[in-house]
Amino acid sequence: MNDRVRLQVVVEAPRHAGLSDTLEYQHPAILPAGTLVRVPLGRREVAGLVWRATSDGTRPTTALRPIAQVLDGLPPMGQAWMALAEFAAGYYQRSLGELALNVLPPEMRRVNGSQLAQRLLRARRASGAQAEPAPAPALPTLTPEQAAAVDAIEASAAVARAAPLLLHGVTGSGKTEVYLRAAERALARGRQVLLLVPEINLTPQLLARVLQRFPARRVVAMHSALTPAQRLRTWLLAHVGDADIVLGTRLAVFVSLPRLGLVVVDEEHDASYKQQEGARYSARDLAVYRAHLERVPVVLGSATPSLETWQHAGSGRYRRLPMAQRIAGATLPRVRVFDMGTLPRAGGQVPPALAPPVLQALRQRLERHEQSLVFLNRRGYAPVLHCLDCGWKSECPHCSAWRVFHKLDRTLRCHHCGASERVPRACPACGNLDIQPIGRGTERLAEQLAQELPGARIARLDADSVRGKGALEVALGAMHAGDVDILVGTQMVTKGHDFRRVTLVAAVNPDSALFSSDFRAGERQFAQLMQAAGRAGRDAGQAADSEMWVQTWHPRHALFAALRAHDYAAYAEQLLAERRAAGLPPFAHLALLRAEARDAAVAQSFLRAAAEVAAAMPEGADVMVYPPVPPAVPRVANIERMQMLIESAARARLQRFLSAWLPQLHVQRSAFKGLARWAIDVDPLGI
Ligand code: ADP
Ligand code: ZN
Ligand code: ZN
Repeated sequence: MNDRVRLQVVVEAPRHAGLSDTLEYQHPAILPAGTLVRVPLGRREVAGLVWRATSDGTRPTTALRPIAQVLDGLPPMGQAWMALAEFAAGYYQRSLGELALNVLPPEMRRVNGSQLAQRLLRARRASGAQAEPAPAPALPTLTPEQAAAVDAIEASAAVARAAPLLLHGVTGSGKTEVYLRAAERALARGRQVLLLVPEINLTPQLLARVLQRFPARRVVAMHSALTPAQRLRTWLLAHVGDADIVLGTRLAVFVSLPRLGLVVVDEEHDASYKQQEGARYSARDLAVYRAHLERVPVVLGSATPSLETWQHAGSGRYRRLPMAQRIAGATLPRVRVFDMGTLPRAGGQVPPALAPPVLQALRQRLERHEQSLVFLNRRGYAPVLHCLDCGWKSECPHCSAWRVFHKLDRTLRCHHCGASERVPRACPACGNLDIQPIGRGTERLAEQLAQELPGARIARLDADSVRGKGALEVALGAMHAGDVDILVGTQMVTKGHDFRRVTLVAAVNPDSALFSSDFRAGERQFAQLMQAAGRAGRDAGQAADSEMWVQTWHPRHALFAALRAHDYAAYAEQLLAERRAAGLPPFAHLALLRAEARDAAVAQSFLRAAAEVAAAMPEGADVMVYPPVPPAVPRVANIERMQMLIESAARARLQRFLSAWLPQLHVQRSAFKGLARWAIDVDPLGI
């Protein structure tokens, strides 16, 4: 007889550590699956999760090490959560322990049982609902489209296997109100709500609206800017069921929610839902899977859905809930495309930042005391500095990229490796004093606008301008308060803001994406411009006069015709047709094998060897392995990068191939001494 129990525990260990997915330990009694424990591993003690228990008495447990500590102050992780972790680990090709423990708050992996119990107690005490619940806010009357969407979401909550819902609402159609109403219904049923957003900091407005709408509920925000203690606190409140609404970025897709009743993914097309290191998961895709597991409705909201989602909506796998009208009869801005080729070019002079009619439109807004946004997706003063005498350019010594000239802090900064140095006063190569900026970023554009429009209150919004703590809130606050006339910025200005007084948006240089080697560049560009347009004329009183100006050298590109007509569907269908013809996602499934080494030849030979392994495998017949190529910026911080694309017509076949292939690559890796890293990216976003 053997009265001790064998437990299968997952610990945080990457797949190549040579450990199997679960390790066995012994314990005097059965512990439920999902229990958090601490176990010895080598000479360390690490956090673990009980995955399974067997009381199989026929095999002796004496050789097994005992569980060191059971964190029994916490309820175990739920079954659905474990199924999600197992799916994500398998799909994104990580070890179960690495994935499952990595998506827990880091603090949780460090504290012991009594510390955790204390933290939980403190969190619960501190988080009582707001002491004096504010009066319930007056609710706006839903538009017929909003009401239909809310009803459809509610109806799907009653169906066991309802299709995911695509809330396809034009900018300013009131999608947030739909989320809030659907959340209200889920809360009334006693359930928790998971509301995913691309970046919380960028849209503090949304958090404020949720807090205001549900004064008597516990709302927690979960994102990477929280301190470790805050992150643990919010996680614990969600896990024990105290938090009613979790508003979070991609990492929140894994938060434990015992009463989950609704999942919302706002701006589902946003690239920040894809994790770019470690387990490179798509939080949007996992949200859909999680809702399916837990049989709760999932709403993907966007004015410009990803083509993957659009395709699902077209094929009937997802259900589309359209909202084609802006709130209160506001119209979408008139889009005007300016052909840069028509500007007179006096003797090789560079064209001005803004074409005359665009400047004129800005002046008009100033006179009318309306606000404008000027969108240029390049930060800094100028992307390159060069010497007119010897041709020197501000190349980064560590990367295959230029260092960007930042005039305000007088630095040359590499946006890839972060290397920064003071701007040289003379050419470092020849000593010439006349070194000049080439091209233009947001800093220079703001400077030029200030010269052209004296008296205008001009502000800048980009990653540099909001670096300081609280700077972003201040900048957005000034804009909302009307203290800014013209806001110049990168794609940050195009994200979901509800600026009420903007009647003009100008996109200054949107052309680079038209000829990018990344097959998703066109989709991204179109979405970005439609979202930019969506910031103008959101107030019905001013909408009729609102405009968007686009300056381009390629005015006849189909993208601009669709933009003018605000016709997302037309351009999406065209792009889908191109993808179908080229055999690209969503009509094919991709994985990208990346390799990094100081010597590009090492990275390349690793990938070549991996391709040979693939060719020798029976599963290799199901996939197409392309030759290794360098990415757009091959060298970063003195590391050379290479990548190799794997494509399959069927997702399941790609998955089967990867599961068989990767273990062999872990073995093969040791033969490549100079290899720094390698990684697989399933459903990669940037190619
Ligand atoms: P979207 O996310 O679709 O761009 P928002 O949710 O930001 O749009 O809504 C745009 C504006 O309309 C917000 O200021 C919001 O408060 C307001 N709004 C939403 N629904 C209604 C409604 N039914 N009646 C009046 N105003 C509304
Ligand atoms: Zn020089
Ligand atoms: Zn660099």
